Amino acid sequence: MAEETVFGKIVSGEIPVKILAETDRVLAFPDIAPQAPVHIIVIPKTTAYANVTELAAAEPETLAEMITVAQQLATEHASGEYRLIFNTGAGAGQTVFHVHAHVLAGNLEERTLVGA
Ligand code: AMP
Repeated sequence: MAEETVFGKIVSGEIPVKILAETDRVLAFPDIAPQAPVHIIVIPKTTAYANVTELAAAEPETLAEMITVAQQLATEHASGEYRLIFNTGAGAGQTVFHVHAHVLAGNLEERTLVGA
């Protein structure tokens, strides 16, 4: 079994977060270190997938649901336009190996990069 991540602990309730959206399969909460005026993390509740490639291959419908939730949050918290980032692999800046989308919105600078 994969090692438990901070997002696994958020799913189980061990680490409390402000839940911004929740469906049967998906959870969203604010990033603890925001890189944009709106910076929300969207995750599947399953802990089975480390990155978006694995999720897309195994459960494309869950990935589609994450994107629907991202759009709803960008509409609710900003203009409805947003940047969606899936850091994939440590070399690309991924630090939490539970697949997650960064939803960035609200007056984004041209060069806004997660983790930069
Ligand atoms: P990544 O570098 O793509 O793996 O992104 C992981 C993100 O998770 C970072 O932007 C962190 O700021 C964020 N993060 C880590 N711990 C928490 C937490 N407890 N609550 C919310 N966001 C977190």
